[in-house]
Amino acid sequence: MAQSKKVVIIGSGSAAYTAAIYAARANLDPLVFGGVAMGGQLMITSDVENFPGFPEPVTGPDLMERMQKQVKRLGVTIINEYVTKVNLSKRPFYVETSEGTSATAEALIIATGANAKWLGIESEKRLQGHGVSACATCDGFFFKGKDVVVVGGGDTAMEEANFLTKFASSVTVVHRRDALRASKIMIDRAQKNPKISWVWDSAIEEVTGNGHVDGVKIKNLKTGAVTDKKCHGLFIAIGHQPTVGFLDGQLKLNAAGYIVADDRTRTSIEGVFAAGDVMDDRYRQAVTAAGNGCKAALEAERWLAEQGHH
Ligand code: NAP
Repeated sequence: MAQSKKVVIIGSGSAAYTAAIYAARANLDPLVFGGVAMGGQLMITSDVENFPGFPEPVTGPDLMERMQKQVKRLGVTIINEYVTKVNLSKRPFYVETSEGTSATAEALIIATGANAKWLGIESEKRLQGHGVSACATCDGFFFKGKDVVVVGGGDTAMEEANFLTKFASSVTVVHRRDALRASKIMIDRAQKNPKISWVWDSAIEEVTGNGHVDGVKIKNLKTGAVTDKKCHGLFIAIGHQPTVGFLDGQLKLNAAGYIVADDRTRTSIEGVFAAGDVMDDRYRQAVTAAGNGCKAALEAERWLAEQGHH
């Protein structure tokens, strides 16, 4: 039997938790479906120095644990299951997890975030966390004085490459074409950086190493030639994938696959709100996601009041 709720929140990152805090304090008794891997992308972040209120760096997992405690102290139930099915075609909306737990909601807040894209090769998976990373901010520190490779040609790749030069002795950017997609200012900065070198028209064919990355095989996509490059780290910076599969096309998405939401977090379906990285491919910060989660809860509260659900 589905639980009947005024507000259901899907997600467990800073957008979802902030929405839960605001909805709980508005007496909306929200239910959170937090997934199995709680905490979102901050769980793979080391020191967070840009979340206000923490004069000393706080680790990502510590920050998320604190948010979760705050949510629970306000009496919110968090169900640690993944939502795999929703029905947004009529109200109340219907939400169901892979375990068969279900709920109906008068208002729905989607804050399922985004995940880094991976190349999809076997060796990348095997060495993930052992030299293969998708987050320079999280792991760059471990590569002091080492040689690293960055894959990608967008702003993220430029940003990661520049950031990594603070630690690494050399950074090689491998890009599948001969032109970068990144913005001019980011390209200029990277191209002026003497520690960064470039490999064009190329793809990573394999990451090598036993227990830890010791190199990559780089294939030139024009000639087919494969060369070995020694390195200690491989950073994949080829973009992010918003978590929207469970929506099964029921909400309007933009060309990059993110939920389209206006500046009041309203989506293409009335009563469904979206917050955080699942609708924001621009800022992607813990603090902007939290701000969005707050907006979504306030908008849901107002909308419910307009519908007569006090
Ligand atoms: P992006 O702009 O989509 O760029 C992804 C890059 O990875 C592209 O160069 C793409 O190659 C390459 N790529 C994609 N799939 C690949 C694959 N399977 N194998 C090899 N290469 C692959 O993603 P992003 O760099 O993460 O940026 C996303 C958005 O955030 C953008 O709007 C960006 O401007 C913004 N952003 C801004 C900043 C900033 O201003 N500080 C920082 C980060 C991100 P192709 O070029 O050949 O497609």
